[in-house]
Formats: sequence, C-alpha cells, structure tokens
Amino acid sequence: MTFADLRQKLKRGEVSSKELVQEKLKRINELDPKLNCYLSVTGEYALLQAETIDTKRSAGETLPPLAGIPIGIKDNLCTKGIKTTCASRILGNFIPPYESTVTERLWNSGAVMIGKTNLDEFAMGSSTENSAFGPTLNPWNTNNVPGGSSGGSAAAVASGLCFGALGSDTGGSIRQPASFCGVVGLKPTYGRVSRWGLIAFASSLDQVGPFASSVSDAAELLQVISGKDKLDSTSIDIPVPNYLENLSKSIKGLKIGLIDNCFEHEGLSSSVKESVLKSASVLESLGAEIINISCPRFNDGIATYYLIAPSEASANLARYDGVKYGFRSDKAESLISMTSKSRADGFGSEVKRRILIGTYALSAGYVDAYYKKAQQVRTLIRKDFDNAFQKVDVLLAPTAPTTAFEFGENINNPMAMYLSDLLTIPANLAGLPAISIPCGFDKNGLPIGLQLIGNVFEEDRILQVANQFEIAADVFKNKKKPEYIF
Ligand code: GLN
Repeated sequence: MTFADLRQKLKRGEVSSKELVQEKLKRINELDPKLNCYLSVTGEYALLQAETIDTKRSAGETLPPLAGIPIGIKDNLCTKGIKTTCASRILGNFIPPYESTVTERLWNSGAVMIGKTNLDEFAMGSSTENSAFGPTLNPWNTNNVPGGSSGGSAAAVASGLCFGALGSDTGGSIRQPASFCGVVGLKPTYGRVSRWGLIAFASSLDQVGPFASSVSDAAELLQVISGKDKLDSTSIDIPVPNYLENLSKSIKGLKIGLIDNCFEHEGLSSSVKESVLKSASVLESLGAEIINISCPRFNDGIATYYLIAPSEASANLARYDGVKYGFRSDKAESLISMTSKSRADGFGSEVKRRILIGTYALSAGYVDAYYKKAQQVRTLIRKDFDNAFQKVDVLLAPTAPTTAFEFGENINNPMAMYLSDLLTIPANLAGLPAISIPCGFDKNGLPIGLQLIGNVFEEDRILQVANQFEIAADVFKNKKKPEYIF
C-alpha cells in the first residue's frame, strides 16, 4: 500500500490514523523483540499525534500530505525530548533539547513518529553489527545482516514496522541497507536536505534521505524534507521541484550509462551482475538508450573515503568529552582522565578505529600526504562523473557487490566490510544523488539492489527512471514473502 492508497483509505474513513498507529505498534510488539529494528518505540507520542490528526480530519480540516502516516526515524536524528542515542553508549541517555529540521518538516506534513531506528554506532558500518544495543536482523533471512549503517530503518520498512523511514548516507548507509532489505532508498544531492540536528559523522559527505517500499513514497518523503534551511548553511537555496510530477513520464530516448568498471570488479557476485544487467535490458525495452561508460577513478573511492570520512569523524567526535554530552565515567581522578575514560568506555571499537585513523591522517606531517591527497583524488572522481554526464542522463550500477552477508562474516575483517561500500561511496564523494531499488533476488531468495546515480539536483530524473523500472519489472510479483516480510 502506497502513501497515496493510505491517504484514500484515511479520507474515506476506512481506517483512522490512530488505528494505523495501533496496527504498527502491534506488529512491532510481535516482531521487534526478534528483529531489533527500533532502539525506542514512541507509541504514546505516536498515538497523541494520530489522535490530533483524526480530530482535525473529523472537523473537516484540510490535512497535509502525510497526515497520520507512521514513520521510523534513524536514531542519529535529534528529536526534541526523545532519547537519541546514535546507537552509542556515549549518547545512551542523551535527550536532545531541539528537533532536527528534517523531522520537524515531517511532523509539519502530518507524519507520525513511531520510533527511533537502530544503526551502526555513529553511522559507522555496513551491517548494523556495530550498534551498542545489539544488531538488527534482516527480515528476509534472520541469519543475515540488514546492511548498514541505517539497517534499522531499512529492516523496519521491509517488515512493515512503519510505512517509511529516514536514514542518513555518508558512504552508502541508505542505499546499501535498502538493497539488502529489498526496499527503496535515496541519497539526495549534497545540500538538497538540511543536516540541522543530524548527529555529524563526516560533514562533507553526510546527507539525510528516505526509505520506502515504493519509489513514489520515497519521492513524497524527499519532497517534504528537501529545501533550504537557515539553520544549515550547507543547505542550498534553489527551488525544490515537484518530485511526483515526472514519475509517470516515459523514459524513451533517455541515455543511461552502464558504469563498466563496476561490472568488472572481482568482488561482484555473479547473481548481482546478472540481475543488474537484466534490469538494464528492461530499461532498454522501455525506450532508454544504454551506453557503456567508463569511470576509471571510481575504484579509488574506497581508499579516498576511508581517509576523508575518518578524518572528519575524528574532528566531529572530539565534542564527546564526558562534559557536554551523555556518558561520563565515574572512575576518573582528574579532568583529563575523566575525558579519556569516558571516551574509552563510551565509544565502541569501530568508532575508536576511525578516530585513530582520522587523527593520524590529519596530524602535522601527514595531512598533505593523506588528507590533502585524498581530497585531490576526490576531485578526479568528480571529474569522471562530470565527463560521464556529458554523454548520458543517468548512470546505472549495482548498489552493493553482494546480497546480504551473514552475521559475523565480515565483522572481524574491516577491509572486507569496507568493500561492501565500493559502489555507493563515489556518489557521496562527488555529492551526487543516487537511489537503490529492488531489481531481483539471488539463489537464496535475498534481494538485489539496482543503483541509479544522477547529476547534481537531478533527483527527479533518477526517481522517474526508478519508477518506470519498478512498474515494468514488478520484481515482487509471484515472490513468496518470508515470515517477517510485510
Ligand atoms: N559503511 C560506510 C562506513 O562505514 C558508510 C556509512 C554511512 O554511509 N554512514 O563508513
């Protein structure tokens, strides 16, 4: 059921917002003790929000577009008066005194907050195994990870524990879990969406974006959260197009570039390759022209990202000192040891690894060799994209090299874990919008994601192609859904 269907049902009085919330809370009660999608469920708050909307509806008031629809929020987005942990012990009891702009915009558009979703601590990871509060399970197969870092949001949408969700994407954290959980996930252009109230990881890369079970729902969520925010000077003041307007338009004549070096990568699983190439022929049958494109610097994305992201993280995370926020160790005798003990006990090992790498890469004597060099390579990656967009309208690649891997498979091998972001990271480095949509299944029945990357501020175009693909491919038709899938 899409938001448009839900709106009709609500309007016709077939269901009330309160009933929608109650239905979701019931499902959360049944499934979430196992799946662990939510770090907190805001049931009472959701019921209050829903009742207010129901009252307005009965009074005949015109309601905003998402009125009464329950949405999950990644727990690195600040929600006023509601615990926001970033899945870290260091923020375990943090209650923000302010609301993030994206959530504020959602509530203004009538959406209802059902809970805060699980993630890798500080959004660092690709499997949600780095959460200080236990991993989220993949609803397609609970032996497998849901992807990360926004694994809770992706799994919650896939298992019907909300109708849509917000996540954040620094190197792939919306698209990769969307791909692993068989849902739609979109990372907007850098600057399209405000980060006010998003707990910072790597500030030149972070973007907030939607998860949904259809392209049109993702477009609706993006519509609501996009646009200039005076509280975030990196948000850009250009008009927000109507993201629903182009969805139904034909893609005939559109040029779609297949990034060939992505398909040649040794780590790419054969089922992913096959399914994504098959999807390209679906797009071709819709009248798009498929063109092979080479982005030779694409493969340097991982090395570049794993200098830039930890460097920025090491600076951003300096604020957690046991004084201003959250956890404070009571084992210390001095101010200095209070800070170091709070950080030692408050942060998990992946976060510490990133702080160490980042501090090293930024230190005098190394900053030119590492951080500056990485920024230069980043410019070359952007140039590859600029050249590609001279020839094509949209780029196509797999979202992730594999389908969801098993718990424990990569957790002790950071290099293997980092490689799962191989295909998503370049869009973050270049600041481009990109979407992941389900395109098929592997032999074990796990979903595969197709990634479409657009030129800056061309979210409308990737949404259009994604929507046309979704209709034509109809990948869930005849698919037997496992127990936890909605
Ligand atoms: N998995 C990547 C990392 O660990 C990306 C995370 C993200 O996008 N937040 O950094």
